[in-house]
Amino acid sequence: TLEKEENEELTLKDVFITVKTCAKYHQSRIRVLVKTWFTLAREQIYFFSDADDDDLTRSTGGHLINTGCRKMHTRSDLSCKMGAEYDMFMTTEKKWWCHFDDDNYVNVPRLVEFLGHYDWREDVYIGKKSITRPIRSMYKGNFVDVTFATGGAGVCVSSALARKMEPWCLAGKLAETADDLRLPDDCTLGFVIINKLGGNLTTSPLFHSHLEGLNNVKMASLRKQVSLSFSTKNVININHGNSKNQVFNATIDPTRFLSLHCFLFETAEFCK
Ligand code: UDP
Ligand code: MN
Repeated sequence: TLEKEENEELTLKDVFITVKTCAKYHQSRIRVLVKTWFTLAREQIYFFSDADDDDLTRSTGGHLINTGCRKMHTRSDLSCKMGAEYDMFMTTEKKWWCHFDDDNYVNVPRLVEFLGHYDWREDVYIGKKSITRPIRSMYKGNFVDVTFATGGAGVCVSSALARKMEPWCLAGKLAETADDLRLPDDCTLGFVIINKLGGNLTTSPLFHSHLEGLNNVKMASLRKQVSLSFSTKNVININHGNSKNQVFNATIDPTRFLSLHCFLFETAEFCK
C-alpha cells in the first residue's frame, strides 16, 4: 500500500553516487577512494573520467566510465562530465543522485541516513554553499544571479527534481547550459534548479569542501559528517594523540582518508 511505501526507510540501494575525476588523478586520488569509501557501496558508486584505465576498471568492478569528454579543464569539458553523471543517473531507478569530487571522502552510511530525512518525491537539492552571495552572470542576454551548492563538497538531488531538469541537462544539454550561462557545472545545477525550476537549496553543515578550514572539524564530530575533503595544505586533523584506531603518517596517508576510514570503520581489512 501507499502508506507502507511512505514509511519505508531509505536504504543504500536507493542512492546513486557519481564521482568526477580525470586521468591525471587516477593514481593520486582515486586509488585511495577505492581502498576506503568505495568499499562501503561498490554497487552504487561510479567514477566519471576522461580516459580508460584497466587497473581501475578491474579494482572498481567496471565502475570507471570513460565519458569521452575532452581532457582540458575548460568549463564545457568539466560540465560534459557532470552531464554524463546526470545522464547515467537518469537511466537508473534510484531515488537520489549525489555527485562528489575525487578529493572528497564520503561516509556512505551517514549519507543514506541523512537523505532519509528528506523526501525524494519532492524537489530537493542539498549541499554546501562555497560563497554566501549569489554569483552574477549572463544567460542568453539577461543578467542572472545564481545560488549553488559547491560541487567540491558534494551535491544531492532527489529523483523528482532530477526528472524536471531534463530540458537543461539531459544528453549534452548540461554542457550547453553551462556554456550559455558562462559558469561551471555546479553553478549550472543551481541555475537550472533555482532560476529555471523555482526550487531552492537546502544547505547542510555536514558537507565539507577544501574551501573551508578542514582542521576546524573537531575529531569528536568526524563521525557525524557526511562528506569531507582534502587539498595539499588543508586536511582534516586526525592523529595518534586522539585516536585508538590505526593512524597512518602523512607520507603514507597525505589525504588523511586512510586514517579517517580506520577511525570510522575500524574493521576494514587494511586497518587491522
Ligand atoms: N577535474 C577534471 N579535469 C581536470 C581537472 C579537474 O575532471 O582537468 C576534476 C577533478 O578530478 C575533481 C574536480 O574536477 O573531481 C575538481 O578538481 P580539483 O580538486 O583539482 O580543483 P578545485 O577543487 O580546486 O576546483
Ligand atoms: Mn578540489
